[in-house]
Amino acid sequence: MKHIITYDKEFIHTEVDVLMFASDPTVGRLYETHLNHINYQKRWSQEEYDEYLQLADKMEQKCWTKNQEYTPIGYKQQASEHWIEWPMSNDHNSRSMGADRVAHEVRQMGYTVQVIHYPLHASEDLIHKVFKKFVGPNTKAVMFGQVFAFGTEQRGLVNSVYFPPARQHKLKEWATEINPNIKFVIGGIQFNATEELKGRGQVDSPLLDIDVFMFGYADVTIRHMMKDLDNNTLKKVYTDAKSLLDIENSTQHYFPEDIVTPKQQLSLEIGRGCIFKCTFCEFNLIGKEKGSYMRSSSRVEDELKRNWEEFGVSNYWITDDTVNDDSEKLEKLAEIKSRTGIPLKWSGFARLDLQHRLKQSQLLVDAGAGWLHYGMETTIHESGILLGKGWDPEEQFEFVRELKAGIFKDVGMSSNFMFGLPEDSYEGLKDSYNKLTDLEYNKLDAIYPVIYKLRRSVGKGEKLDGTKTESVIQADPAGYGYTEYSPDQIKQIRSSGLFGPGQEDMFFYTNKHGVTIMKAYHYASTTKKTFNRLKTHAHRNPITASNLLRQEMYNDHTEYFDKVMNIKEHNRVESVTLWKDDVPTTLTVQEYRDSI
Ligand code: SF4
Repeated sequence: MKHIITYDKEFIHTEVDVLMFASDPTVGRLYETHLNHINYQKRWSQEEYDEYLQLADKMEQKCWTKNQEYTPIGYKQQASEHWIEWPMSNDHNSRSMGADRVAHEVRQMGYTVQVIHYPLHASEDLIHKVFKKFVGPNTKAVMFGQVFAFGTEQRGLVNSVYFPPARQHKLKEWATEINPNIKFVIGGIQFNATEELKGRGQVDSPLLDIDVFMFGYADVTIRHMMKDLDNNTLKKVYTDAKSLLDIENSTQHYFPEDIVTPKQQLSLEIGRGCIFKCTFCEFNLIGKEKGSYMRSSSRVEDELKRNWEEFGVSNYWITDDTVNDDSEKLEKLAEIKSRTGIPLKWSGFARLDLQHRLKQSQLLVDAGAGWLHYGMETTIHESGILLGKGWDPEEQFEFVRELKAGIFKDVGMSSNFMFGLPEDSYEGLKDSYNKLTDLEYNKLDAIYPVIYKLRRSVGKGEKLDGTKTESVIQADPAGYGYTEYSPDQIKQIRSSGLFGPGQEDMFFYTNKHGVTIMKAYHYASTTKKTFNRLKTHAHRNPITASNLLRQEMYNDHTEYFDKVMNIKEHNRVESVTLWKDDVPTTLTVQEYRDSI
């Protein structure tokens, strides 16, 4: 198998207190979608697994060899998932933030931690070797990040093509062979593994091997969980849905065993939560006060300097829900960039209306914006108003044209667009198609047209994590004019295979203007294909680009695992510096633990 990542050299055992697998933002669960006819509902024997590996490899080969087949005409009929779109926000070198954040908090308590990123193409044997290297008789826990697992059909613990969920009971077997008391912990901000905690529709899911579920913001709850683990008072579920982190004074350090390289895009958090309250938004931390819940700019500066000086990193993915919700935040970032000389470049989520109203464009450039992803959401004004994004789309596109002709010439601009919103009519959708695919009208560098996805409300009672929020629209689809398909129609759609794993809770709707979800899907996918054919792929064969990216991904991830397997030691923190109004206090680890 050409693209599988293996490791066949010698390695030394370097036991850690906590081994952690990061949630992987790269093309998450691609193979579960493409190989969805495979039965994941039971453990596989070696023969079944071997058979799967052949299929997975065939799938991989198909992705690589479609190179010769690409034609703009063919593309019209083909699914685009056979190649990796580029540029893309989930760059293969970006690291998910959750595991690194949680690792930092665990280290502050005096434990050693190893985080494993990029398991997407790792072999089963490589993952086994990772266990042999880092798990020992004193290892307390193995943890699994699931930030990027949005589907309700939660299957596995690690997102890996060659080590699929049907083999992942092995993780617990490997761990308990070494240490029978070891605990398995899983978590992620949007993670919810009902029902009840074994995942939906699963008979023998590896989720059954999990001892502790962390819902919401684990960088808050992990400290209590680790204390409980030591005191033998462990609970099954820990929840922090509203993030009680002292974010102003929060710090983030990386160590050599984190294998941070200059090529990587690290996540950077400046603030948490969003000042808006859009009616379709399902995030927990919306509607915060302007300027609240922000990190001290001195802590942000410390982090940027340290990452630049120690690891040569200057490329970030700012994780704030709205990076430009506050001009002061951008001013501080621009000031740090200019004073320190760090060639800071970042991507982030932004609101175009704010950028326009607060005249932030130059400030964004000065602060290092390299790519901004906007939530313009729709070209249909009435739907935008209903969502809480009411700026006239005509004026928005005019502003985009002005920016791309001048100050944002070198800043990437992209946006999501949803089809099937409450006020969308067929006429409106046709108009959206025409506008978004008119390259003179629409100067965005990339667009992501998708259907407006409504999920069936699963009811709070079913969730052990009862604090998850629903969007305003989702809580009352009928109030927004949606009716549901009949059971027969739903059966028919399901049998088409269009909405496969991870989409079991879809609400198949018709909106009050008669737009059905299937038609919305048609408009969204046709818009995407036409735009890409005319713009993104006009001067670049997407499959050649995809193959280059796959090769680069393979090389980078192979190098990453070589470095991981060569780790000689782990850092153990002895003191913790806490900040209050930029005044430091240094505590011993024991004092810090006692303060929790
Ligand atoms: S959609 Fe974006 S701007 Fe609106 S509430 Fe959610 S995070 Fe905030």
